[in-house]
Amino acid sequence: MPGNEVVILRIGHRPERDQRVTTHVGLTARALGAQGMFLATPDKGVVQSIRDVADRWGGDFFCLDNVKWRSCIRDWKAQGGTVVHLTMYGLNLPDVIDDVKAHGKILVIVGAEKVPGEIYGLADYNIAVTAQPHSEISSLALFLDHFFSGQEFRNEFPGAHIRIIHSRAGKRTEEM
Ligand code: SAM
Repeated sequence: MPGNEVVILRIGHRPERDQRVTTHVGLTARALGAQGMFLATPDKGVVQSIRDVADRWGGDFFCLDNVKWRSCIRDWKAQGGTVVHLTMYGLNLPDVIDDVKAHGKILVIVGAEKVPGEIYGLADYNIAVTAQPHSEISSLALFLDHFFSGQEFRNEFPGAHIRIIHSRAGKRTEEM
């Protein structure tokens, strides 16, 4: 999205059980307008899956694994960025999204297993997507849609080898 930079920091990923969900966190982030994902665990399988999709479907979404989450947050803030942590314990999304929109460079933290307590203090905003437990994929999708005000539906993905032509029925695609 022009003028905004949104990157995801995925923490707590367990390669033996979270590969599918973490890959979907990355694909959701990419489809809904984020620029990339830092993964705070080594997992080349997730990185490769996301790169395969980005190569075929376009855009320049990045995925970096084995990132140290403390230094990632520190560096982001040092560059003037804002840190958002999605947690059901935070302030409710509709109550804070206008404040967050005033910031152009956002790091969105999503967890897998229990998130270290330190994250709550490091985040500039702890944001709940309702006060009910659900998932990192749904919370991220709703956050991005609110942050981009629905404009992400119009995003283009330059360099794609394939694109879908929306249609009422059937599957229309164009190979480039
Ligand atoms: N049991 C974990 C805990 O207590 O931290 C949460 C696990 S949940 C399956 C994984 C992630 O989904 C959370 O770290 C959070 O980022 C996100 N999440 C789940 N429900 C949420 C909600 N209602 N609002 C915001 N984020 C949520």
